[in-house]
Amino acid sequence: MTLKDQYERPLRDLRISVTDRCNFRCPYCMPAEIFGERYQFLPKPQLLTFEEIARLTRILVRLGAVKARLTGGEPLLRQDIEELVAMLAAIEGVDDLAMTTNAYLLPQKLDALKAAGLKRLTISLDTLDDEIFRRMNGGRSGVDKVLAGIAAAEAAGYTPLKINAVVQRGVNDHTLVELARFFKERGHILRFIEYMDVGNKNGWRMDEVVPSAEIVERIHAELPLEPAAGNYFGEVARRYRYVDGGGEIGLISSVTQPFCGSCTRMRLSPEGRIFTCLFAVEGTDLRGPLRAGAADDEIEAIIRATWGARIDRYSEIRSSLTDEVRDRRKKVEMYHIGG
Ligand code: SAM
Ligand code: SF4
Ligand code: SF4
Repeated sequence: MTLKDQYERPLRDLRISVTDRCNFRCPYCMPAEIFGERYQFLPKPQLLTFEEIARLTRILVRLGAVKARLTGGEPLLRQDIEELVAMLAAIEGVDDLAMTTNAYLLPQKLDALKAAGLKRLTISLDTLDDEIFRRMNGGRSGVDKVLAGIAAAEAAGYTPLKINAVVQRGVNDHTLVELARFFKERGHILRFIEYMDVGNKNGWRMDEVVPSAEIVERIHAELPLEPAAGNYFGEVARRYRYVDGGGEIGLISSVTQPFCGSCTRMRLSPEGRIFTCLFAVEGTDLRGPLRAGAADDEIEAIIRATWGARIDRYSEIRSSLTDEVRDRRKKVEMYHIGG
C-alpha cells in the first residue's frame, strides 16, 4: 500500500544531506559571524556512514521514494562522495540521482561522479557580478570558480543544468536579467528561489523577499516569457518558457505561492534524522535504531509512522504567523538538511 501522509501526499523524493560543513558562508544560509572558526560541526562518528545511507535509501525506495538528491552543506566536501553515488546508483528503484552543489570543487570531482552514476546536477549561482557574488558567499569564491564548475559539467554532458539563484532584494535583484540572458544563451534552466526564512540564523525579513511575480515581470520586460505546463506532480518550480523558443526558467516561490499541497519530499540529515518539512522543528532519529541493530522492518515502521503522521504545511501558514511567533519557532537550519 502506498504510504501517504495526513493530507494524502505520497513520499516520492529523498533529499540526503551528507555533511553539515561548507566551504562557503552564504549569509542567507550559514552567516560567517555565526559559523566561524570555532563553530562545532558534527564529528565524523556522528555522521551516517555510506552503508547506513544506502540501507535507509533501500528502505525508503520500498516506501515510494523514486528520486534521490545529494546535498548538504556542501556535498563535495564529504570525502569519497562518489562511493556513495555508486552505492545509490546501484539501488533498483532509484530512477533519478542528482546533486546540488556550489560547484567550487566540481572540476576535480566530476569524472569520478559521472563514472559512479550521478545523473543530474544542480549548481547554485546567485549573480554574475563578482563583487555581489563574493558578498553572497561570505567572501569564499569568485564567479570564475563556479563558471569553471559549470564548464566542466557541460563538458561531461550534464546538460541542461539546473542553476539555482536565491534572490534578495537590494542585494542581487538588479542582476537577474543578466543572469537569465547568460543561461538562456547556454541552454541551462535557471531557477529563481525566493529568499526563505529557513532556520533562525539568517535574520530573514519579508521585505528582502522579491516575489516571483515581480521576478517574472522583470525578466519578461527584456526577454519575453510565457507560462509553461508543469512536468509532474510535486514539481516545486513553476515554469516559464522564452517566447522565442530559447529555453525556460523556473520560479521556486515558497513564500508567495506555497506548494505544500504537493510536497512529497523527505529529508535525511547527516546524522541520520528524517525531517518531513524544510521548516520542521524536530526530526525523527533513525541512527539510534540502526546502530542498535534494528531490522529493516523495524526501521520501515518508524518511517511509516513518521510520514503517516505528517501534517506539515509551513509555507501555507507562514503569513498567518506574527514575526514574534515565527522567530520563536526553533527550526532546523538549511545547511543541515540541504534545501
Ligand atoms: N551547498 C550546496 C549549494 O549551495 O548548492 C547545497 C546545499 S544548499 C543549502 C541548497 C540550496 O539552498 C542552494 O541552492 C541555496 O542557494 C539554497 N538556499 C540556502 N539558503 C536559502 C534561503 N534562506 N532561502 C532560499 N534558498 C536558500
Ligand atoms: Fe554552503 Fe550551499 Fe549554504 Fe551557501 S547555500 S552556505 S554553498 S550550504
Ligand atoms: Fe514541503 Fe514544508 Fe516546504 Fe510546505 S513548507 S513545501 S511542507 S517543505
